[in-house]
Amino acid sequence: MSGTNDISNLNTFTCVKCGRIVSARTDDGTRRNHCPSCLHSRHVLDQVAGGPADCDGRMAPIAIAVLRNGDWMVVHRCARCDELTSSPVAKDDNQYILMRMAVRPLAEPPFPLETFGDL
Ligand SMILES: [Zn+2]
Ligand SMILES: [Zn+2]
Repeated sequence: MSGTNDISNLNTFTCVKCGRIVSARTDDGTRRNHCPSCLHSRHVLDQVAGGPADCDGRMAPIAIAVLRNGDWMVVHRCARCDELTSSPVAKDDNQYILMRMAVRPLAEPPFPLETFGDL
């Protein structure tokens, strides 16, 4: 509860995955919480409680979610505690990784397509 671990005031952070020094804000001033190169993040905010998390685990991008207004979100899962979070896609996020995550469920369905008949 000391508050000394509050990274929200820092201007840059180092990517836990690829080591890139990332500016904490995009060009238009939006806060970013994941690396634009590899889209990895760090579990520093507790989505449930809304405060800082003690976890600090590495968060891997696992999927794309599309909001009602068409905006894309990156869904992250924490490698340490398994919590899921989502955060907005920034303009300079790696579009190749975003597209790969978006099409992966269609390209590699985890079941034979005949299964649809049994739903
Ligand atoms: Zn990175
Ligand atoms: Zn975690």
